[in-house]
Amino acid sequence: MGIRVLVSGANGRMGREVVKGILADPDLDLVGAVGHENGIGQDVGILIGREPLGIELAADLGSTISRTGAEVVVDFTHPAVVKNNLETIAKQGAHAVIGTTGITEADIPEIAALYRAHGVNAVIAPNFAVGAVLLLKFAAQAARFFPQVEIIETHHDQKLDAPSGTAIKYAEAIARAAGSLRPAPTKVEKVPGVRGGELAGIKIHSLRLPGFVAHHTIVFGGLGQSLTLKHDSISRESFIPGVILAVKKVSSLDGVVYGLENLLDI
Ligand code: NAD
Repeated sequence: MGIRVLVSGANGRMGREVVKGILADPDLDLVGAVGHENGIGQDVGILIGREPLGIELAADLGSTISRTGAEVVVDFTHPAVVKNNLETIAKQGAHAVIGTTGITEADIPEIAALYRAHGVNAVIAPNFAVGAVLLLKFAAQAARFFPQVEIIETHHDQKLDAPSGTAIKYAEAIARAAGSLRPAPTKVEKVPGVRGGELAGIKIHSLRLPGFVAHHTIVFGGLGQSLTLKHDSISRESFIPGVILAVKKVSSLDGVVYGLENLLDI
């Protein structure tokens, strides 16, 4: 018997990829799937374009966790519902692997207290692509030597929120590593917002266009030189090895872990 896994958001773009990843891994058992609106009651195998699996897409997360005895819930849903889902998962006594964006470092203490109270663990990662996590590490190194930096993130045009959770995490990590950053020089924005948004003293620019998946560029400027670090997720498959790793490790962690980098030996 493998780890009993339930996918929340299983009818979404990421959820369907996660379902395929779980089915492909002999150490994991897909026991349930929860979705919203389209496809409720449909067989999950059909939803991913395969043979029926005998698992129907359910509508209610809490009752589906208890009915299926899921040990780990993977959630790729919507920023508006992720905190509710986190609470439901903990109350049902399951571990959580959360890819949905909308959670920042500031939310972690409250979530950690909730998970501690229920004796369960969680991995919350704004980006499950290993390359994106390495970019975080390299950017934190570079930040110590370059006090001026801006972030450009590009995503597909179906993405509802901006900036990306990953860009937020990069800004937080770079600001922490840099210590002090030189403020941007612009005094007048002739077009309001033209210099982007600002977080932790770092400008972030969000592009939303068809033809892209998830791309992050960090540009450092210094005296007579610049350094550009870039990561591209060109398909949603890029996130799946990180998700599977988190599913396998979550039960042996100590509480809540924010960021895939904490599960990798880097
Ligand atoms: P999607 O719109 O294709 O799927 C969203 C899923 O959430 C669907 O299953 C939908 O039924 C469900 N949902 C939507 N509104 C809901 C609600 N009110 N209540 C319950 N369920 C609801 O989106 P997607 O591209 O699969 O992305 C899902 C999330 O994952 C987003 O937050 C996205 O930013 C994030 N994401 C994270 C990573 C990562 O590596 N952490 C990678 C890609 C996407």
